[in-house]
Amino acid sequence: MQEKNDLKTLVRYIKGVGPKKSEYLAKVGLNTIEDILYYLPKRYEDRSSVTAIKDLRSGESRTIQGEIASLSSRTGRSGASIFQAVVSDPTGSIHAVWFNQPYLRDMLKAGDKVVLYGKVERYDRLQMVQPEYELMEGLETDSVNIGRIVPVYSLTAELTQRFLRSIVFKTICEYVKFAAERLPTYIIARQKLVDIKFALRNIHFPTNFEMLEKAYKRIVFEEFFILQLALAVRRKGRGTESFDKSSGFRPELSRGTEEAAFGHSMTAGELSGSFKKALPFELTEGQKKAVAEIERDMSGARPMNRLLEGDVGSGKTVVAAHALVLAAQNGFQSVIMAPTEVLARQHFIYLSELLMPLGINVVLLIGGMDARMRERIYSEIKDEKADIVVGTHAIIEAAVKFKNLGLAVIDEQHKFGVAQRAILRRKGLNPHVLIMTATPIPRTLALTVYGDLDISTIKELPKGRFPIVTYWVEEDKRDQMYGFIKEELEIGRQAYVVCPLIDSTAYSVKHKAQNAVEVYEKLKNEVFTNYEVGLLHGRMSSKEKDKAMRDFKKGKIEVLVSTVVIEVGIDIPNASVMLIENADRFGLSQLHQLRGRIGRGGCKSYCILLADPGTDAAAERLKAIEETLDGFEIAEADMDLRGPGEMFGTKQHGLPEIRFGNLAKDFGIMELARIEAFALIEKDPGLSEEHHQLLKKSLYERFRGRLELIRVG
Ligand code: ADP
Ligand code: MG
Repeated sequence: MQEKNDLKTLVRYIKGVGPKKSEYLAKVGLNTIEDILYYLPKRYEDRSSVTAIKDLRSGESRTIQGEIASLSSRTGRSGASIFQAVVSDPTGSIHAVWFNQPYLRDMLKAGDKVVLYGKVERYDRLQMVQPEYELMEGLETDSVNIGRIVPVYSLTAELTQRFLRSIVFKTICEYVKFAAERLPTYIIARQKLVDIKFALRNIHFPTNFEMLEKAYKRIVFEEFFILQLALAVRRKGRGTESFDKSSGFRPELSRGTEEAAFGHSMTAGELSGSFKKALPFELTEGQKKAVAEIERDMSGARPMNRLLEGDVGSGKTVVAAHALVLAAQNGFQSVIMAPTEVLARQHFIYLSELLMPLGINVVLLIGGMDARMRERIYSEIKDEKADIVVGTHAIIEAAVKFKNLGLAVIDEQHKFGVAQRAILRRKGLNPHVLIMTATPIPRTLALTVYGDLDISTIKELPKGRFPIVTYWVEEDKRDQMYGFIKEELEIGRQAYVVCPLIDSTAYSVKHKAQNAVEVYEKLKNEVFTNYEVGLLHGRMSSKEKDKAMRDFKKGKIEVLVSTVVIEVGIDIPNASVMLIENADRFGLSQLHQLRGRIGRGGCKSYCILLADPGTDAAAERLKAIEETLDGFEIAEADMDLRGPGEMFGTKQHGLPEIRFGNLAKDFGIMELARIEAFALIEKDPGLSEEHHQLLKKSLYERFRGRLELIRVG
């Protein structure tokens, strides 16, 4: 038999919970006393005030108090047993009706004083159907179901609210006094929190709504605080040796950080200087700041872990190039990984042109290479002949071995999974890591899933850009649009035509969705007969894709028909028009990314969304994209539609699920918890002080084996 003061005691030791009931409780995850204490109500009903019977209105849920005037029971037409009571108070009377609860006959007698709670209905008389009831005797202090703010829990069919409430109530009465206070007193005082015993009592059976709010804040704070502690530990672990090894805490909590203690300190020199001079333009303020932040990170003893966010076209690549050069300057290899072959090739061309003249050797590694070529690249990487490796996920294959990888850059990071980023990181010994994205990260996620990253943001676009003009038009304007594209081609510009599908299938026919292969044929043979039309899609061979991109870049192709393979990163400044077929079939962020392919040179650019949307919602979305160029606004709108988890792949981020708090609603609490947690880890990085012992234990319980995954990458 377990000690009574142990919150891990199994539920079946609670009076009134037999083997059957404990099985039912287990189904909702309630195995121990602690589980019950932390099983928060999904909502509350205010049954605290009693309504006079004469004031009852049909349709409202109310509490009444009165005396049982008469009782009757009968069997209904369907065979159900019906038990009725007439309950009166000095102002009137009401019928209470219960179905299939014959045992009520033994519970209630005429003359009993009762409290009822239920929904009021009026047929030919006023009644409450299946009301919750309680005898008044001994009610004043201990009423669980009535006469107070009452908790309502999530349940399965086998459990009733009434039963669970009584179990929770008993558990609180007997065990809450053993709940240990994990938060150090100074934090409780500074944040004006209530203590844990008070919080647990009031989260279930609040004295009033003010107390409920205090209880909720306390419980959510603790949850967020432990999450933020984990993030703080994680961040700290990347950079210092200050963990207390003797406690056995550090190695288990931060598996993999042991070696991460030392980064490679890299400093700028001659090479970086020549690189900066060779750039054809001046950096924007945002770029300069990001470069400075990156240089500061990379010169430090801790490995950099930085996110660079900036809208499409803000010039993230050249910022990354600064970091790549810095690594080369200091004798380290580096890698930049992109989500598509097309983008990897483009980076390769850009970086080779820029860096080869400086004596930096850039190589390309993608999936579609022939075996001999691939082997050669492998050995160049191994022998350190390759300074910078540009590629796709082909880089993370096991066969790729670096001599000394000092920096990993991940472009369009949201296109990669957590695991892929982690593997790349492990290709070196604590490399600096820079991840880049054009999809702004909402602040809730910036403090949690991405919470141990430093963030640089480029807010402005390079000077001399004309904003992209976006038009949404319907099918009847198609020929007019072709005419418009011809005008642009006539003055030497180039155009993209983007289709949702590659080629014709039963699906494309049924849904009237355009496919690249057919559109290409049509444009080439019927529409743009005087111009060069090219085709690009994901099923073409690497060689063909490469040729199409090069020809488009050189201007040999004037109209490029493609699928979303061009969605990310592609940079052809002379392209000034993009026509998107079936635009209503794309997500908002995707449309924004696509349109980011144009407006990159000094010419006015136009994005034409061609769509006959079937629904109002789709039309709304097209209007939204027509009206704003702000990637952040678009990301927020997209998130409203799809939910943040889906959008950022946070379902696999490795964080334990948030049980009590609500990320959006309780953001303020998260911020406070973060400040306290980071300050605490700064002061006591190993959580070795006496008053931090329980925190350490909870942190360990909650994050066992998972801390490695928390960081993005
Ligand atoms: P993204 O942030 O979307 O990855 P890119 O790095 O592809 O953007 O840059 C978009 C274009 O802007 C490229 O043609 C790049 O050469 C150009 N560019 C970047 N920075 C500047 C700048 N400071 N001034 C002028 N053009 C720039
Ligand atoms: Mg880019």
